[in-house]
Amino acid sequence: LTIQASQLQQNQVLLTPQQKHYLLRVLRLQDGDEFISMDGMGKWWLTRLTADTAQILQPLTPKTELPLSITLMLALPKGNAFDDVVRYSTELGVSSILPVLSDRTLLNPSPQRLERWRRIAAEAAEQSERAFVPTILEPVVFNAALSEYINSQCYICEARGSYPHLINIINIPLKNIKEVVVAIGPEGGWTETEIATAILAKFQPVSLGDRILRAATAPIVALSLIAAACEI
Ligand code: SAM
Repeated sequence: LTIQASQLQQNQVLLTPQQKHYLLRVLRLQDGDEFISMDGMGKWWLTRLTADTAQILQPLTPKTELPLSITLMLALPKGNAFDDVVRYSTELGVSSILPVLSDRTLLNPSPQRLERWRRIAAEAAEQSERAFVPTILEPVVFNAALSEYINSQCYICEARGSYPHLINIINIPLKNIKEVVVAIGPEGGWTETEIATAILAKFQPVSLGDRILRAATAPIVALSLIAAACEI
């Protein structure tokens, strides 16, 4: 259960009516049952449900985070596809998602959509028992975003180039790298200029295989490969 710092009073969690409903009616917990509370910022507690409150029993060490942070840079796909990208990327361990405006993406999301993605990330983090809720960053223009990541291991995924497969160049075991950045293009793909600019900014162009994946599928493949490289 994700809780706010303001809900903690000494060793008690002041549950909201919605949280009580979720614990009692959805999860069907009973008095005395234990569950995990998390603050979405790295803290976990073993918690016991009591008559009308919940009691913190002890802090726990979360084991659900990857050993490095992954930033997903994504040109916004059409419709609600970004909802799924946020949900599945969170389950796979992404740390932050940066919506980018590229030459072939004109969409600039409203503050309401950003709020919606943040809610989806929080729900997915809870479902996957993540210690941290991924950050959904404010959208930026792709070229402007590139220079922010000079100290990271950066990849740009390109569907039709003869680039090496991500699985072959990913640095296993990624021990000395603190952040990996993966850039995925829009439905119409990156322009040649964008790829060239990214390469100049030390992004490695990579393939995710011989099939053309939808803009919403490609991040899932890339994140699965990186997460697996960290965990094997
Ligand atoms: N319209 C583009 C084309 O025909 O080449 C395809 C764009 S694809 C739908 C959207 C994005 O997903 C691409 O810009 C790329 O970042 C990523 N992507 C899709 N399939 C890929 C693949 N096989 N290898 C690497 N990246 C891929």
